[in-house]
Amino acid sequence: MDIEKFDVVIVGAGVAGSVLARKLAEADARVLLLEKDAYSGKTTACGGLLDRSHFDKCLISDTIIEQSIRKNIFVLPWGEVCFDADQVTVKRRKFDRALAQLAQSRGAELRNQSKALDYEVLKPGQVRVSIKDIARDLNYQVESRLIAFADGPLSLARKNPSFNSDQNKPYWAYAYAYETEGIPIESDEIKIYFEKELFPWGYGWIFPNGNVSNVGVGTLLKFLPKKAKIKQKQDFFLNEYSRTASLLSTSEIQDKKGGYLPMKLIGSFVDDSQVVLGDAAGMVSPLFGAGIDSAIDAAEACAPVLLDALKQDTYNRAVLSAYENKIGSTFLKDLKKQWIISRIIIFSKRLNVNWPIKILSVIAFGGKYTRWNKIRILFFPILGKPTVLQKSKFNIEHR
Ligand SMILES: Cc1cc2nc3c(=O)[nH]c(=O)nc-3n(C[C@H](O)[C@H](O)[C@H](O)COP(=O)(O)OP(=O)(O)OC[C@H]3O[C@@H](n4cnc5c(N)ncnc54)[C@H](O)[C@@H]3O)c2cc1C
Repeated sequence: MDIEKFDVVIVGAGVAGSVLARKLAEADARVLLLEKDAYSGKTTACGGLLDRSHFDKCLISDTIIEQSIRKNIFVLPWGEVCFDADQVTVKRRKFDRALAQLAQSRGAELRNQSKALDYEVLKPGQVRVSIKDIARDLNYQVESRLIAFADGPLSLARKNPSFNSDQNKPYWAYAYAYETEGIPIESDEIKIYFEKELFPWGYGWIFPNGNVSNVGVGTLLKFLPKKAKIKQKQDFFLNEYSRTASLLSTSEIQDKKGGYLPMKLIGSFVDDSQVVLGDAAGMVSPLFGAGIDSAIDAAEACAPVLLDALKQDTYNRAVLSAYENKIGSTFLKDLKKQWIISRIIIFSKRLNVNWPIKILSVIAFGGKYTRWNKIRILFFPILGKPTVLQKSKFNIEHR
């Protein structure tokens, strides 16, 4: 039997994979979009918070939005700092499914319950991919000109040493997201809790998400106190932590999911016939663990480069490096800056467990405080509560 042939095989129909698939299919490329689960987003652990502007880039219906978010509230040891925001929350099982279906409706071949097991680049422009059809319990192979890895932290791309994926392993975080019944906070506000009782480096959150709240905790794995399990921290956040127990302890948990977050970029994003994007490439904010917006940005940057390679019928690393250059001059710049800040914060952990939060606050909200109040943050509680410069002018206030 002839082997099936495609222009591009995309491994993973999450955000990055489905946005890429849609854009390629819209330009008439023959795309195979593989998803190991019964449908996209089924097992994805996530808070589901993203910028409204990025949601709009996805071209899916507003009915997928669970809540419009107008305020971010950072709960810090000295009080609540509130920011204006223009974000939305989504349920990933609906959001990812809608993205994959849109890609399919634009011509991509979507195969659910199809796990990419292995791949081999026979030569630039000829990739052989081994796939398991989980429903029928059979394995088969396809060929493509290009392969795009959008398969999350445990990506198949880790097989290729030239991506240098292992360099981000010490900076992986783990986070839990529970869906709990009821919305214990205002429906257009999210709350993020930074406090040493939760983690020396990490945070907890409550995001309103339609008929439920998404409640979670996450931390860098290497800073999890010895022997403590993240699950125990989640229980503490729900039932004992003084600022959240009264809101959450009686709420009913409807769903529990946990997942890894690679908080550092991998070494390289392209090789002959191969590109890596989204969590597979470590494109996650090292300060806040958010990766949906980056996954969308990466897919948008990647699509024209792959189309160009197909047009030129050239698939080597040099041609694909246009993708690397493009992301390097756009959103990766911000992720790299955040990485440097996160190093400073992590280093500060050696001084005292409260210092990471203090330094993060001065960096994140610095322009909103006078010098005296920045000193107050750093020496809190000795010099009293810090106050912001001017409320209305900066769209920031203390509660
Ligand atoms: C608990 C938690 C909360 C989070 N909250 C937020 C948040 O509120 N906002 C935010 O921006 N980010 C958040 N993140 C991060 C965010 O979820 C990721 O950055 C984002 O999902 C990355 O999208 P992606 O498409 O790159 O990868 P993924 O969403 O991981 O998608 C990968 C897809 O590939 C599939 N797959 C994997 N392997 C294979 C294979 N071999 N064959 C076929 N298919 C495969 C998977 O099933 C999945 O559908 C959170 C993460 C966690 C763990």
